[in-house]
Amino acid sequence: MANPVLVVEKLRIEFPQRRRTLVAVDDVSFAIERGEVVGVVGESGAGKSLTGAAIIGLLRAPGRIAAGRIWIDGRRVDNLDPAAMRRVRGRVVGAIFQDPMTSLNPLFTVGQQLVETIRTHLPLDRAAARDRAVALLAEVGIPAPGQRFDQYPHQFSGGMRQRVVIALALCAEPKLIIADEPTTALDVSIQAQIVALLKRLCQDHGTAVMLVTHDMGVIAETADRVAVMYTGRIVELGRVAEVIGTPRHPYAAGLMASIPTIDRRQERLFQIDGAMPPLAAIPAGCPFHPRCPRAIARCREERPDLARAGAHLVACWLPLGPPS
Ligand code: SF4
Repeated sequence: MANPVLVVEKLRIEFPQRRRTLVAVDDVSFAIERGEVVGVVGESGAGKSLTGAAIIGLLRAPGRIAAGRIWIDGRRVDNLDPAAMRRVRGRVVGAIFQDPMTSLNPLFTVGQQLVETIRTHLPLDRAAARDRAVALLAEVGIPAPGQRFDQYPHQFSGGMRQRVVIALALCAEPKLIIADEPTTALDVSIQAQIVALLKRLCQDHGTAVMLVTHDMGVIAETADRVAVMYTGRIVELGRVAEVIGTPRHPYAAGLMASIPTIDRRQERLFQIDGAMPPLAAIPAGCPFHPRCPRAIARCREERPDLARAGAHLVACWLPLGPPS
């Protein structure tokens, strides 16, 4: 990748406990280039949101980055102090969370919040910041943005609030947006609109997007590449169409088979047997082996690293598809 906006290298996140240390994210490496949307998908507890939180410096104690490095726009950020990271956040990285009210203050109008954020990061006077705020509201599809500017968050519907949050994330023309389950709390019809909006804005502004979700359907609609996570590790990484069409990791294959399609909508969706183990009980060898129909003796003893299998990277001793 010539000029990546985000580079994550061998990231490891630990949660120290009194008697042991839990490893929540282990050996995670990936990069995102300008204008690219990379989806990170997996079940709850797979480590995808923690990876996003570590990138934007919002990992909550006792969670800590125990190893690895993170660069955003060429600057190493995993070792910045909180004040320096706050400047990066907002100016270089925007964040969109599942609940818009995480990002919005109910006591201020959306206009006040946009102007405040714009002026924190850009050298604009109040009038110019207001113009930019109204233009951003229009860009994210808020009707009558000049009037809505003076309204409070509770006067907006859930979908409109999420549009305001996207406008907030775009205030300083960030190079990277971390969107963590941005559509999960919305009605299905609104979800599609927000997904389309994110994709268009990313293309128009050349913003790199890390899209964290448990919903493979959202990834299929939006992302260029996808990283599938399981028990804190990436188990498959590749172009979305290829990972959906010809998944190589048995867990990814199970996830893909559970995406609803028009042909399959009447049938019972595929389910992977069993559940992902908790952090305290990740088995030795390949962590997926207790659920994997292809497991062999080696899978119970040795953990596979990500390695090339065709056009994908796959962490599996026995990937699906032709031998590479
Ligand atoms: Fe299944 Fe073995 Fe591959 Fe793990 S390494 S996914 S257990 S075949």
